Amino acid sequence: MTLTPPKTTVFPNPPPLVRIKGSHRAMGQQMGEAIAPQIHHSIENAKQLIDGTYSVLELDWDGATIQARKYLPFAQERYAKYVDEMMGIAEGAGADFDDLMVLTSMEAVTMDALHLTKCTSFAVNGDRTADGHVLVAHNEDWLPEDESDVCVIHATPDDEPPFLAMTYGGLLPNIGFNAAGIAQCCDSVYPSDPRIGIPRVVVSRAVLGARTPADAIRHMLVTHRAAGYNHLLAHESGELYNVEVSARRFAILYGHEGCVAHTNHYIDPAMQLVESEPDELIHTRVRYFRALRLLQQTEQHTVKSLQAIQRDHVNFPSSICNHTDEESDPFDREKTINSIVMDLTSRTMHISWGNPCVSPYHTFHLDA
Ligand SMILES: [Zn+2]
Repeated sequence: MTLTPPKTTVFPNPPPLVRIKGSHRAMGQQMGEAIAPQIHHSIENAKQLIDGTYSVLELDWDGATIQARKYLPFAQERYAKYVDEMMGIAEGAGADFDDLMVLTSMEAVTMDALHLTKCTSFAVNGDRTADGHVLVAHNEDWLPEDESDVCVIHATPDDEPPFLAMTYGGLLPNIGFNAAGIAQCCDSVYPSDPRIGIPRVVVSRAVLGARTPADAIRHMLVTHRAAGYNHLLAHESGELYNVEVSARRFAILYGHEGCVAHTNHYIDPAMQLVESEPDELIHTRVRYFRALRLLQQTEQHTVKSLQAIQRDHVNFPSSICNHTDEESDPFDREKTINSIVMDLTSRTMHISWGNPCVSPYHTFHLDA
């Protein structure tokens, strides 16, 4: 399908690149200063979202703040350095730390009722690429209001491998790759066993600091995690995994055919036992099978062939290239706010800001 949706915003330019370096506190401060307007904008968007859904969630911003604070001690105990990063972001942006904590715990404090993140991720290793490179692709589907807050973070931490990652607003970066050859994409899943614990965003930020695949998986399964994502994990050696996580369970799915895909439902039968309302999760199944089929149709992939999959419009508007459905339930609004292909072998990230069907990709390099 080549249909071009009429109301889609085109972003001709690359998203802002923010270079940060040093201690976690210092990196946070640099990020906060560089993208202060975006951070304040994303906090305002979140406040409007909470206000607009009061009739269902019966939660106001003060209530959300009280809820979010319950998650802080767990994050602090295990990942104090990332709480430091968040404090730095608040300081640099002149924002309230409590507000950032709500953003970070948003999925948890809204009890996943908002079905906030959608996303489609897939990867191929050297067995399935024309040039032998390992390629990892992700469409980030999120609230359209935050599309203008997208940026790319190039980080050189004192105590971790340098990384290149995408984020928006005041969230810690988590989708990207590092100089140890670890790449991660996160896809929301809907476990029925969430608890108060370490927020998912903090857990996935920790993965970007990993030096080996086992190290990365250990973070994904950290004790006292609040819930879980699917983490699509790729290593520069060509090892590919989907690690499906809930608060108390996990499954590791390996990319035997040299390719993996994931969307927003559990694939592993044991994980399906803790899936909340599986019969509501329909679009994600359609996107999953569509992505798998398109991956299998091409024997030797390239960055371009993966980008073509990211622009796919089958099952529009809830397609892989996802478009806001104005008619849809306010709890189910989403669009692709950026589209990424990471080349783990050449350490580059190709990113389109906004829907990849109308906006061009731009290339960033990890200097390490
Ligand atoms: Zn599109």
